[in-house]
Amino acid sequence: MERYDVVMIGAGHNGLVCAAYLLKAGYSVLLLEKRPVPGGAATTEEVLPEDAPGFKFNLCAIDHEFIHLGPVVEELELTKYGLEYLFCDPVVFCPHPDGRYFLGHRSLEQTCAEIAQFSPRDAQKYAEFTDYWLRTIRAMSPMFNAPPRSLLDIAGNFNPSKLKDLVSVVGGTNKAMDFVRTMLSSAEDLLNEWFDSEILKAPLARLAAEMGVPPSQKNLGIGTIMMALRHEPGMARPKGGTGALTQALVNLVQAKGGTILTDQPVKQVLIDNGRAVGVAVANGTEYRATKGVISNIDAQRLFLHLMDAADVQDADPNLRDRLERRIVNNNETILKMDLAMSEPLRFVHHNHRDEYLIGSVLIADSVRHVEIAHADPMLGRVPDADPSLYVVQPTMLDPTMAPDGMHTVWIEFFAPYQIAGLEGTGHNGTGWTDELKHKVGDRIIDKLAEYAPNVKTATIARRVESPAELGERLGALKGNYYHIDMTLEQMVFFRPLPEIANYKTPIDGLFLTGAGTHPGGSISGMPGRNCARVFLQTQHPLTHRWQDASASIKSALKSLRNP
Ligand SMILES: Cc1cc2nc3c(=O)[nH]c(=O)nc-3n(C[C@H](O)[C@H](O)[C@H](O)COP(=O)(O)OP(=O)(O)OC[C@H]3O[C@@H](n4cnc5c(N)ncnc54)[C@H](O)[C@@H]3O)c2cc1C
Repeated sequence: MERYDVVMIGAGHNGLVCAAYLLKAGYSVLLLEKRPVPGGAATTEEVLPEDAPGFKFNLCAIDHEFIHLGPVVEELELTKYGLEYLFCDPVVFCPHPDGRYFLGHRSLEQTCAEIAQFSPRDAQKYAEFTDYWLRTIRAMSPMFNAPPRSLLDIAGNFNPSKLKDLVSVVGGTNKAMDFVRTMLSSAEDLLNEWFDSEILKAPLARLAAEMGVPPSQKNLGIGTIMMALRHEPGMARPKGGTGALTQALVNLVQAKGGTILTDQPVKQVLIDNGRAVGVAVANGTEYRATKGVISNIDAQRLFLHLMDAADVQDADPNLRDRLERRIVNNNETILKMDLAMSEPLRFVHHNHRDEYLIGSVLIADSVRHVEIAHADPMLGRVPDADPSLYVVQPTMLDPTMAPDGMHTVWIEFFAPYQIAGLEGTGHNGTGWTDELKHKVGDRIIDKLAEYAPNVKTATIARRVESPAELGERLGALKGNYYHIDMTLEQMVFFRPLPEIANYKTPIDGLFLTGAGTHPGGSISGMPGRNCARVFLQTQHPLTHRWQDASASIKSALKSLRNP
């Protein structure tokens, strides 16, 4: 039987990041991945080899912001392993039905100048609003880059300028209370408080709804941070597609002696005397872990599907029930479309310029349009009467992703996992069928064609993946690409539940990482890095605490010398 220090369940980008840190610390690591390729929701694949050979598609994630708020790329020296980030500028184009448009640049000043064309007041307010969120982001990033309960780690991530930002946002009772109030608000409330023009509010609402909820959802005003991130640290894509990030991580893991086995769905975590000692995969092969098993899949799947109920019960009699009933998963997921194109989209009603296609194109006609797009899925309805979309033409920034002169289009359409009234029918009982997904796909193309009519004539081939298929590919419950919802009560030290929020579990030697842990979904690598830190601390608690304390002191002294 093969033995490793650590066995990881899943090789998503967080699993790979975690493995890379452990390998660098001298541990032997095996990653077991259920799919034929590693990367999870961070892959680039040639999925239309017959109809569109040579076209590479990002099947899930495309725009990377959060990874630039942490040290993963630099610490793991990913550029040495082949990663090159291309930053987008402009970052957002949102055509309005009346012929005007919102064009967001990486530069705040340029963006304000665009906004001033339709509202000088909103331009001024946008500068203030963005400044507030940028200070908040800088003040919060030390927390993102540390396990939520490791106060020493969090403290070590602060420097005087981040402390200044923190004080500017929450210093003093009134500011602190107002910050809490902002957090308890909805994106829609905040946008109405700050701005007048629908043409600005609609794209900001659309980006806020990337949290996976409608803009009216209370407690998620933080969603309006999303546009600020595109100014700083900026929005980038790996050259060659999101899969190039995964490939760099794979190169690093392999160079450090790690093993990645694909087509290996883990079926069971092996427990001996209350301790995780390995896993068994679908074909019955067992792999032993002498120091720990780390799960890149969320706690619900891990404890409810891959473990004997009695083992979980022995460790914590309440855990199964709490996982089953307390964790929230609101039924919203994505219907994903990919197009191979003979020419770029052309926004003929909006004075087309190719630069519109560098960042993301948002089809969001109004805040109400976005509201319906995200409220309907929660009720089990497909919002395809008038689809709101997130569209990207990655080949405008990175022509290497398609044959010469050709293009791809990436379309994200939020949709229910379970369609109301169709329970028990279609794919995995969700109500989704091939016929339905293509019908919805046609509505999506009709809507996009209202803005870029050539989408119909320039499409060479298309792929439509229903929510049910996406969920099956990722192995995610109800197709939840954040593993569990990104709502306030499931964030930071509540993610996924307080008793398992610091990457450790009540089972000795069993750890959690991935989007279902702090700080959550998206391409950040932070859950992977944070989990590795906790794992290493459990191996040599005293040495590690001492190293962390001296690193914190050194970083504080350094920043005092060079503020
Ligand atoms: C359509 C779509 C678009 C997105 N767009 C963006 C974007 O533009 N920007 C952004 O930042 N984020 C985006 N996201 C979210 C982001 O991609 C994910 O939150 C992130 O990739 C999660 O990474 P992870 O490593 O934590 O988990 P995952 O990527 O889910 O990795 C988990 C891995 O475990 C494997 N696995 C599952 N079960 C088993 C098992 N039993 N045995 C072995 N292996 C198993 C899976 O195959 C997978 O490889 C998008 C997601 C989707 C679906």
